[in-house]
Amino acid sequence: MPMSNAFENRLLPRLDDIVAHFGTPFHIYDETGIRETGDRLKKAFSAIPGFREFFAVKALPNPAILAVMADMGFGFDCSSVAELILGRRVGGCGDDLMFTANNTTRGDFATAMADGGSIVNLDDISLIDKLPAPPDLICFRYNPGDRRTGNAIIGRPVEAKYGVSHDQLVHAYQKAKDLGIRRFGLHTMLASNERDYTYMVQTASMLLEQVERVSQALNVRFEFINIGGGLGIPYRPADEPLNLEAMGQAITARFDAFDGRNGYRPRLFMESGRFMTGPHGVLVTTAINRKEIYRTYVGVDACMSALMRPGMYNAYHHITVPGSAADALQVVDVVGSLCENNDKFAIQRQLPAITGGDRVVIHDTGAHGHSMGFNYNGKLRPKELLLKTDGTVDLIRREERLEDYFATLSFTPDRLPASATEAFTQLAN
Ligand SMILES: *Cc1c(COP(=O)(O)O)cnc(C)c1O
Repeated sequence: MPMSNAFENRLLPRLDDIVAHFGTPFHIYDETGIRETGDRLKKAFSAIPGFREFFAVKALPNPAILAVMADMGFGFDCSSVAELILGRRVGGCGDDLMFTANNTTRGDFATAMADGGSIVNLDDISLIDKLPAPPDLICFRYNPGDRRTGNAIIGRPVEAKYGVSHDQLVHAYQKAKDLGIRRFGLHTMLASNERDYTYMVQTASMLLEQVERVSQALNVRFEFINIGGGLGIPYRPADEPLNLEAMGQAITARFDAFDGRNGYRPRLFMESGRFMTGPHGVLVTTAINRKEIYRTYVGVDACMSALMRPGMYNAYHHITVPGSAADALQVVDVVGSLCENNDKFAIQRQLPAITGGDRVVIHDTGAHGHSMGFNYNGKLRPKELLLKTDGTVDLIRREERLEDYFATLSFTPDRLPASATEAFTQLAN
């Protein structure tokens, strides 16, 4: 179930006007769909007091989108200084911001704790010493090692660079407690694009168990657990969607049992990116070339710089050709213009016959789409549009232009001479 019928019904009648006004290629995001998913998420976990989603900014780092998230009451999960600043620019402050970085510098932490601060989520015990001062609230990212299996995108926890190991966990909170820190949270992030909700339930159970272990060892309480992101979406039409409501019920039961044993409930935090916005965006391109050699290639006016996932993970993205005759199917590769043979949006895909000028719509680009793009081969990233709930369409990021590409090049280099002697010789001359 890629792009929903409802999104299609909102977009397709307007597509000619949108293309005429803005031109292709562009990613367009559906505010209505994003809000519906946000409401579903809140409802699914409403029986756990204080539930909060922290939208993973890296999935779709655009202020217009973040403003929608903030309006729904969500915070932001930020994993870099740029993402923190973005979160703050749309009004996020203090406990609205979760700073989940890794391989972090003192400078990163200084930014995280300035300007109203953020919830600092530490990736290692040693990083406590890099904080400018002990915060009120501290969180550690837990890596269970071979106690859990990960999945294909994120790998096995025991091989992952993230988090504090099982044996270090109590020691980490002991160190924080010794510094006078009194508020605690526990975080993990183990899987990506996982559609089996029971995996997420196991993750919540695992964190609640660790909370009990640390609490008993150190006589502390935990304010929250954060089960991370990683909720999957169906990219292929035949994929089963994640059963969010069942996930909510099962996790609520785990919290009830925890309450029974401990007499309180921590809050539940989550930091979904893909699940929140993935299905609510599409990349609209125009077919510009067609070539018939050993295979048939349809060239469109976007390339990997707009969507890395097919080239990087061999990921499937559904493709439709609005207005085409559904009966004349052909097997083609849909390709971009980058000089890399993995610059293909689809390989040997059966699609309606595509001719020059046709619109080719690539689905599920609302998360880890535009944000993953890069400039290899001098390819520029496309614009982003937002189809708002009232039907207006906003340009929320312009396309990159050649002047952006050239902006960092030094045609007159800042030059360090080869050696002091040489510099002296140059001066003397
Ligand atoms: C990428 C990331 C997320 C979001 O992952 P999704 O698969 O988009 O839900 C959440 N938390 C952390 C720490 C991440 O790195």
